[in-house]
Amino acid sequence: MTVGDRPPQDPLRCVKPAVRAAKAYTLVAREAPVKINQNENPYDVPEALKDRVLERARRRPWSRYPPFDPADLLEALGRHAGWRADGILAGNGSNELIQALLLATVGAGTRVAIPEPTFTLYGLLTSILGGERITVPLAPDLSYDAAALAAPRADVTVVCSPNNPTGGALPLDALRGLCAESPGLVVVDEAYHEFAGFSAVPLLGHHPNLVVLRTFSKALSLAGLRVGYLLAAPELVREVNKARLPYNVNFFSHDAALAALAEAGRLGENVRRIVAAREALFAALRGMAGVRPHPSQANFILFELDREPRPVFDRLYARGVLVRDVSGYPRLERCLRVSVGTEAENAAFLDALRAAMAEAA
Ligand code: PMP
Repeated sequence: MTVGDRPPQDPLRCVKPAVRAAKAYTLVAREAPVKINQNENPYDVPEALKDRVLERARRRPWSRYPPFDPADLLEALGRHAGWRADGILAGNGSNELIQALLLATVGAGTRVAIPEPTFTLYGLLTSILGGERITVPLAPDLSYDAAALAAPRADVTVVCSPNNPTGGALPLDALRGLCAESPGLVVVDEAYHEFAGFSAVPLLGHHPNLVVLRTFSKALSLAGLRVGYLLAAPELVREVNKARLPYNVNFFSHDAALAALAEAGRLGENVRRIVAAREALFAALRGMAGVRPHPSQANFILFELDREPRPVFDRLYARGVLVRDVSGYPRLERCLRVSVGTEAENAAFLDALRAAMAEAA
């Protein structure tokens, strides 16, 4: 039915065609004893940190807004990341800052280069905003093809590094070249950078067209509190800030983020543990018949099967292990994605996968 065919006052007449055509960002809500499907950190923040944040929250008037200008958080983020505080925005998860950035930069006809496959939010928001999506395929081995990223000379080029759901990262030399060649913005989403051990932030001072996005949801174990941040040239940050909602970081999340930054060293031990577990998991998957893991620099591993993945996914779930079925992504028809969990969770996953593969053979 087209808009013209719809009766007056039908609310769908008012929805933009680009929104009607878009597929919603979805996650099938499931629980499982071993839940390793959302790239979360398996290690919670320390109890003492929770106590400090809860105590502060209790003393605050909840009737009052959080700070209008979260200067202390921006200063702390600046010290943590090694970039100027006036070049940083904090947000309700990095998702919100992806939205603010694209609201500020993408309109009808804006050309946005988006690798495929990658985190789906970029394509979804670009379409909703009327931008033109330019799909840049990853290389045959699912690594980044730096020349292909630069070729469209897009207004905005998105690079999730490490990429979700494939796990590969764009090396800094290639990123430097991309920033230098690109006439538009280069957006590097570093949601998983701590697990890769390198960052694009040192390039910010050399490339005013570079934007870096980061999150507290992965290495810093605060996914439930929704905190992310954007780093870029101050003049660009001032513009993106216009598209950010006022009071977007509530006081609880604000205080928790400050507390996590103060303990970033301790939380870094979890990152080292996860990276070691990732390497062990990769080796175990590589040794399994019918399974081909892709090298990962993140806290998850994409693995390809020699058969339809859905029955394997179902058998894992029946054994209490929930991974992510990514077989609906372009080029990943035979793939599942597993987040690195605790040592016990990873062992349970490997046992369940061995059994599932034997049953589904
Ligand atoms: N970017 C990428 C590449 C991601 O994978 C995710 C989380 N799945 C996000 C951003 C969103 O993170 P946040 O929790 O900060 O909104």
